[in-house]
Amino acid sequence: MDVCQHGSSRNANIPKPASRTLARLLHPLALATVAGYLALLAASWWALQRLAPDTVTLHLFGKAHVASQLHRRIGERLVVAGILAPGVFFLEYLWMGWRGSSVRHLLVERTASGRSDLACFLAGLLPPMTLISAAMSLGIVLVSGEWLRQAIGRVTGFDISIASEPLALQTIILFLVYSLFDYWSHRLDHSRAFWPLHRFHHAADAFSVLTAARTHPAAFTAVIGTTLPGLLLGSAPEALADVGILVMTIRLVIHSRIESDFGWAGRWIVQSPVHHRLHHCLNRLPVNLGFIPVWDHLFGTWREAPGLPMKIGVATPYRHGAWIAPDIWRDYRDFWSGLFRLAKARRAA
Ligand SMILES: [Zn+2]
Ligand SMILES: [Zn+2]
Repeated sequence: MDVCQHGSSRNANIPKPASRTLARLLHPLALATVAGYLALLAASWWALQRLAPDTVTLHLFGKAHVASQLHRRIGERLVVAGILAPGVFFLEYLWMGWRGSSVRHLLVERTASGRSDLACFLAGLLPPMTLISAAMSLGIVLVSGEWLRQAIGRVTGFDISIASEPLALQTIILFLVYSLFDYWSHRLDHSRAFWPLHRFHHAADAFSVLTAARTHPAAFTAVIGTTLPGLLLGSAPEALADVGILVMTIRLVIHSRIESDFGWAGRWIVQSPVHHRLHHCLNRLPVNLGFIPVWDHLFGTWREAPGLPMKIGVATPYRHGAWIAPDIWRDYRDFWSGLFRLAKARRAA
């Protein structure tokens, strides 16, 4: 199913950045909201450090379970939920105004698809989601990068560690390698076998910043994109953290409702929301896969964005809504049954 409405010429009616951006930025209500929010964030961080314990011991079924480094773990989630996502929400508001913002879409329009986005984002911040993800992926998402790197070193006798390089260089190299691996894992997501697990992400019928978090917990291919680059390069944890933040920010931006192709930068440096919208409206067709467009140019999967609007979604019907379990379970079943069918067809051939 091709649900795209193509424009008459290349980027014919993609608007230029809104001229009212500065007025929105300097509006007293916007300034007061930002100042109030930053004060709240600082107070929350202070309260966490001073009032909450860093280590908690739970006694369950006669056994002691220790949860340590809680400040760091909560802090990492606070970066995504408290800084990155609100920062992109604000950027989107400056660009598009209140009517075109994800906040309005999620909290006022409250569509079933938007509720799924919000549910996925909130669920992703909770520790049980990691356990569900580990169980559904048969533990593959927990594969230790360090273990694999050592195994490769033992077999090949070759260590490609960049750990001795300056941190800035490590970050740049890791980012480029990460983007390449992410490109190929995304390409695999669009294959017949893995599509049912990626389809959930594409099922969103409208973009919001939080569509970035709408991923299936059993996404096996994510291991290639997220774990392998760091392990192969043996980069410093700081470089991994920096690249993680950068990639998450890009993911939030490309799923925003910002109506821009970012000009030449959107064609070569960082994928724009409009180009990613085209990716979402072509169902399973693998185009515009990399968050760095240069990989798509190199591997022949780049497609220029037609004019807006573009209708996004998939042909498969989705229940949507805040209770995401039925959709996730149906896609999981479809993945395994599809895999068995493919294996059977291969044996019969
Ligand atoms: Zn995709
Ligand atoms: Zn997407």
